[in-house]
Amino acid sequence: MKNKEIAQIFSQIADILEINDENPFRIRAYQNAARIVEGLPEEVEKIEQRGGIGEISGIGAGIADRISELVRTNRLSYYEELKAKTPEGLVRMLDIPDLGPKTVALLKQKLGIENIEQLEKAAREGILRNLPGMGEKTEENILSGIEFLKYHRERILLGKAYPLSQSIIILLNKISSVKRISAAGSLRRMRETIGDIDILATSEEPQQVMKVFTGMPSVTSVLAMGETKSSVYIEENIQIDLRVVAEESFGAALQYFTGSKSHNIKLRELAHKRGLKINEYGVFRISGERIGGREEDDIYKVLALHYIPPELREGLGEIEAAQQGRGLPELITHEKVRGDFHVHSNWSDGANSIPELAAAARRLGYEYLAICDHSKSLGIAGGLSEERLRKQIKEIKALNKSFSNFQILCGTEVDIDSDGELDFSDDLLSELDIVIAAIHTGFKQEGSRITERIISAMENKFVNIIAHPTGRLLGEREGYELDMERLIGEAKRTGTALELNALPQRLDLSDVHCHMAGSAGVLIALGTDAHNAAQLEVMQYGVATARRGWLEEKNVINTLSLSKLLKKLNNGKT
Ligand SMILES: [Zn+2]
Ligand SMILES: [Zn+2]
Repeated sequence: MKNKEIAQIFSQIADILEINDENPFRIRAYQNAARIVEGLPEEVEKIEQRGGIGEISGIGAGIADRISELVRTNRLSYYEELKAKTPEGLVRMLDIPDLGPKTVALLKQKLGIENIEQLEKAAREGILRNLPGMGEKTEENILSGIEFLKYHRERILLGKAYPLSQSIIILLNKISSVKRISAAGSLRRMRETIGDIDILATSEEPQQVMKVFTGMPSVTSVLAMGETKSSVYIEENIQIDLRVVAEESFGAALQYFTGSKSHNIKLRELAHKRGLKINEYGVFRISGERIGGREEDDIYKVLALHYIPPELREGLGEIEAAQQGRGLPELITHEKVRGDFHVHSNWSDGANSIPELAAAARRLGYEYLAICDHSKSLGIAGGLSEERLRKQIKEIKALNKSFSNFQILCGTEVDIDSDGELDFSDDLLSELDIVIAAIHTGFKQEGSRITERIISAMENKFVNIIAHPTGRLLGEREGYELDMERLIGEAKRTGTALELNALPQRLDLSDVHCHMAGSAGVLIALGTDAHNAAQLEVMQYGVATARRGWLEEKNVINTLSLSKLLKKLNNGKT
C-alpha cells in the first residue's frame, strides 16, 4: 500500500471521528499522521520491512501499529469498524466542496440529515438557514456544491457495472410478471466507463417490480419511485434506473435508451426522409398508424438497415455500413477466443501456480495459455532472472506432456527499458514460444521518445506482441502521447501484433485504436494480464472492446487454432 493511500485512510478516519464528535485529540492525531505519512520521502512498505515504523517522528505507538496492519494486510480493522457504525451517506456528504465534518456533524445532530439527498431537500426548503452560522448563502453554496458533485461523479468501469447489472437483471427476472428485461444505455454498448446503469423491463404489474427493485438489499437510497421509472443508488453512489415499458414498445424503448445520441439522431433523420416517426414507444407513420416497436429490429428493418449490434452504435459510420451494399463487420464473438496471451503466475507477481492457471484455462475451453511473467528489471513485480525463466521453460515443457489438445506457451512480458532496449538477450527470447514486450517505466518521457522505444522493440524479430501499448489506466492515468498512426504503420511493417489488454482498468488498445489497427491490417492479440485464475474471465471486456473497434475474427490472433497459431509463431513474428 502506497503512502498516499495510507494518508487518505487516516484523513478519512479523522473526518469520521469528527462527524461522530469524538475526542479532539484523537482526531488531531490522525490528521497529523495523514500529513506525516504523505510527506515521507520513503515508502512505508520499505520502512516496515526494516522494522522502522515505530521510529517515524511524530507518530505514536498506537498509530504505528495501525500503519503496520495496513501495510501487512492491506486493511485496517479499526477503520472498517468505524465505517460500519457510521452511515455511509454522512461520509459521502464530505465530497461536497467546502462541506467539512463539523458541519456534517451539526446537520446530523440538529436536523437528522444523514445523506446528500436529505441535505439537498433541506437546502431547497430553506431549512438550513436557521442553523447557527448558516444563512441563505450557505444554502446556495451547498446546492451548487451538490450540482458540481453530480456532474463530476466518477464514471464506473465496465468491469464493475456489467456484473452489477447482470446480478440485478437475474434478481428481477425471478419476478413472474417480468416478461422481458435487458440492460440499455452505454452499458449495453459496452463502453469502457458507464455513467448510470439503465435497465429496461416489461411487466403487467410494474408496481410489484418497482417494489422489489427499490427494496434490494444493496440499495443505499431511493432517488425516485414511480410506476414506470424508479432510480436508486447502490453502494458507492452508483445510480441505477429501471424503466418498465409496455410489451408492444419494448423493442423501440430498448433501441431508444441504448443510444448513442448521435446514432439515434441519424436514425430519426432517416426515418423522417421516409415519412416515418420513431420514438421510445414505436415506429409510426405520419398518420399516427403504428407499424412496429415490439422488437428492436423493427426499427432497423423499416429503415432498410441491417441490424446494428449495440457496440457499434456510436454514429461513426455504422448506419452507412448497414445500408445495402457496404456491409457491417462480422464482429468477433467470445466463443471464437481460443486462448489468452498474457497471464502472470506465482513465479512473478501472480497469485496462482502454472498448473492452477492451466486448469482454469481448460475449464474455459481454451486450447492455449501463454504464461508471460515479468522480466528481471521489474524487481517490484517479482521479475524473473534469466536462470529462473529457463527453469520455468523446463517446467512448462514437462507439464505440457500431460495435456492433449491444450498447450501452455512459454512466454515473457519483457520490459522495454528507457532507451528501448529489451531486458533479455535474443538468445533467451529465441527459446520462448511467445514474447510480449511492454513499457513499465519512464512514462514521463515525451510521446515521441516512447513511440521510438516501442518501435525499437518491434524491430526485434522475437517480439510478437506489444502489451498495453498506451499505458493508460482508466480514471487514474492518461496514456502516453504516442504517435499511434506511426506505431500502427510500424506494427504492420514489422509484423508485430498489438495487444488489447482486457483488464477493465486498462482496455488498451481502446476501441478507437482497435479500429485504426484493424483497418490498417495490424493483428490484435487479446490478453487478460490476469494475476490470478479468476481474472481470466475479464476476457469478455476485451472482446466487447474489440467489437466496439469493429474487429472481426480475422483481426484477432486468439481465434487461431493451436496448430495454426504454433505454425505462425514458428515462422517468426505474427
Ligand atoms: Zn505489463
Ligand atoms: Zn502483465
